[in-house]
Amino acid sequence: MRVPDFIYRANPGRVLFGAGSLQHLEKEVRALGATRALVLCSPAQRELGEAIAFKPGNRAIGVFSGAAMHVPIEVVTEAQAVARSLHADCAIAIGGGSAIGLGKAIALKSDLPIIAIPTTYAGSEMTPIYGITEAGIKNTGTSRRVLPRAVIYDPELTLSLPVAMSVTSGINALAHAAEGLYAPDANPVTSLLAEEAIAALAKGIPAVCADGSDVEARRLMLYGAWLAGTVLGSVGMALHHKLCHTLGGSFGLPHAATHTIVLPHALAYNARAAPEAMNRIANALGTVDAPLGAFDLAQTGGTQLALRDIGMSESDLDRAAKLASSSPYPNPRPVEQGPIRALLQDAFEGRAPKP
Ligand code: NAD
Repeated sequence: MRVPDFIYRANPGRVLFGAGSLQHLEKEVRALGATRALVLCSPAQRELGEAIAFKPGNRAIGVFSGAAMHVPIEVVTEAQAVARSLHADCAIAIGGGSAIGLGKAIALKSDLPIIAIPTTYAGSEMTPIYGITEAGIKNTGTSRRVLPRAVIYDPELTLSLPVAMSVTSGINALAHAAEGLYAPDANPVTSLLAEEAIAALAKGIPAVCADGSDVEARRLMLYGAWLAGTVLGSVGMALHHKLCHTLGGSFGLPHAATHTIVLPHALAYNARAAPEAMNRIANALGTVDAPLGAFDLAQTGGTQLALRDIGMSESDLDRAAKLASSSPYPNPRPVEQGPIRALLQDAFEGRAPKP
């Protein structure tokens, strides 16, 4: 075993993990010295947001349920105005990446401390990355100011996530860990986290498909999602994430479903250039071939496997290939427009990844 030179950057944060851990929210709000928490959630999760806000002891004074995909600036401005009018001294963001993204945007602009309670596997709560969409353009950045002060992972809150969404969200998480294994700034610690994340998700996803109400299976998936989010927050991502951001940002494709379809193809693209990472991914998946393993896992849940089934037009593939290969970024294999166009065609058709 050879230990390389490396830099390890840990993000601050306090994580409470466990079934029923939502009960600790009261203590976490109190630990911030806050007495007037504003709960942030998406419209679909308003009931859950209200249940938290109106639970005696949680020190909440209201709910803002306007969180939306890609964090529109108008929503941030409105939520900030509500926070100001209620004299909120803390925000509790509960939900998927959209609700947590709203919390991060508010923390960036106002210094309001955030407690995050994730109910999907997207992993945003563990990263210093924020995104805010203004005039149709999503501007992203990195700031430690947006990191939640505490994160509560309660698998019971994920029981309501439909199985198909659980699979795509879980593979979204797996993609953070997989790309983390071939990141130029990967280090022994993040690689261990990534392997453990992939192994937990590879076991948890089929178990959730078999029984979406299995709390132990949900626990495995949420554990994997936490670790994968930690990897995403610590090292740089590559081709897979670039492709997904291009397809989501410029063509409006849904976030987690896009990750699920693209991942096997992005891994196949990089397979020869990153053999050690591929071995580690394959081992963690319990298979011999990382791209095929990711493809098989997506099939377990019966989710869509083709970009054409989630709203992509074939006539846009040329532009997508150009956008994803126009500016340089680190990737094990050089990113070239021709091969990327071929990758996108495979993903469009829903073919198995090419070895
Ligand atoms: P999402 O937050 O948009 O949630 C999708 C839908 O599922 C919403 O309607 C939500 O209310 C609902 N939902 C969430 N949890 C549920 C549950 N347990 N039961 C029933 N319904 C539930 O989707 P997402 O995939 O979690 O997040 C995607 C967004 O997060 C994207 O905008 C992406 O860019 C962002 N993201 C950011 C980072 C980062 O580091 N900044 C990381 C990952 C994702």
